[in-house]
Amino acid sequence: MVSNSAEIAGRSAVVVGGGIGGLTAAVALRQVGWRVTVLERAARFGEIGAGITLLSNGLRCLDAIGLGDAVRGSGMPVLAIGMRTDKGRWLSRIDGDGTDLEARMGTTTLVLHRAELHKILRDALPAAALIAGVVTKGIHGGTDGGPAEVHFRNRDRDSLLRAELVVGADGVHSWVRAQRWPDAPAPVYSGSTTWRAVTTPSSAAVTEMSLSWGRGTEFGVMPLVDGRTYWYAAANAVEGQRNRDELEELRRQFGDWHEPVPAVLAHTQPQAVLRHDIYRLPKLDSYHQGSVVLLGDAAHAMTPNLGQGGGQALEDAIALAAAVSRASNVAAALSKYDHERRARTQAMSLAATRQLRFGQQLHNPIGVAIRNTAVALTPDRVALLAIARYGKWYPPASRVLQDALAARASSG
Ligand SMILES: Cc1cc2nc3c(=O)[nH]c(=O)nc-3n(C[C@H](O)[C@H](O)[C@H](O)COP(=O)(O)OP(=O)(O)OC[C@H]3O[C@@H](n4cnc5c(N)ncnc54)[C@H](O)[C@@H]3O)c2cc1C
Repeated sequence: MVSNSAEIAGRSAVVVGGGIGGLTAAVALRQVGWRVTVLERAARFGEIGAGITLLSNGLRCLDAIGLGDAVRGSGMPVLAIGMRTDKGRWLSRIDGDGTDLEARMGTTTLVLHRAELHKILRDALPAAALIAGVVTKGIHGGTDGGPAEVHFRNRDRDSLLRAELVVGADGVHSWVRAQRWPDAPAPVYSGSTTWRAVTTPSSAAVTEMSLSWGRGTEFGVMPLVDGRTYWYAAANAVEGQRNRDELEELRRQFGDWHEPVPAVLAHTQPQAVLRHDIYRLPKLDSYHQGSVVLLGDAAHAMTPNLGQGGGQALEDAIALAAAVSRASNVAAALSKYDHERRARTQAMSLAATRQLRFGQQLHNPIGVAIRNTAVALTPDRVALLAIARYGKWYPPASRVLQDALAARASSG
């Protein structure tokens, strides 16, 4: 049974986790008439100092909630993209003025600073909807599809919020998942670690996006709008291993690679370097339990090799808002969401792991040589189509959300 959004106005949701996925869900849910509170564990809402690539699917999600133009204003359109060896030989390259990339992708592909994206999402929410510095304590009820209570501590006070919908958007090591999916397998270490940073502005700034493969290693560079470069490095490594000076370690591993790798390292402040081990989440059987639902990395953390983890979190957020927008039965709506999202995100996660093994993790010199030859022999257009495939997703919610946007615009 469906009812219109006016009849369900006043329904409330609690989103646990104020990352990109959680904030997008909050914005989208508000636009379809829900009252939303976002609970964030960190002392303040923000994002780490690195970049993010958004393919056309991610941008369409932001368009669906009216934020696409703001994001385009902060992002660097990707006009050229390529793959290289550690010595700098191009294995594949699509350059030019970007029209080819755009025509195939349906829209611009952007690289932007995560903090910018996060701020745009945050600014679309009322300050009263955002509670930081939260220690989550428990979720009670909601297994039968009825309201649930989220208990938490904030500013030395115990609080609870009762809501018809609880969204677990709290990342790969999700607390919500641990509460409601206690038997779910834990995230698995992928065997790879990453470093990321944004350089200081410099004349050595890169102008095109490229990734380079060594043996068990990878280095990617992407231009940002303000003359800085976002870069990441990845390597096979033992879980949890750390160095006293990560930038020094990067210079040791990547210092003799082709330019601009040494140059971007030279323009990086040691304190700007972030290091994270990479985990993926084994498949869950369901993304919801009654009125509690998971999205983003909490539901399907994948290795970053397709640059789609954030894009999938955005898709989830829009699909979730669409599913519950007019539903009188929240659990039934979440089953629809689960049905729509699980197959795509789990297939994407599998494809990302394959890409990791075939790409960055390949260490054997013969395997590397065969891989490089195969990529070099693949026509650039075929490589482009392989990337574009993942961007071909259209928000099911666009109608509902556009109605909401139009109504909002006409009411001033
Ligand atoms: C090296 C690397 C590069 C990547 N590059 C890209 C890319 O180019 N493009 C792309 O689309 N994706 C990329 N990704 C993936 C992307 O970063 C993630 O998929 C995305 O951030 C997931 O968003 P999320 O909101 O689900 O989770 P998160 O970003 O992890 O946010 C979770 C939030 O929940 C909060 N939280 C955690 N526990 C609690 C709790 N108990 N209570 C309250 N709050 C809590 C956290 O503090 C955090 O703010 C990359 C990932 C890595 C590791």
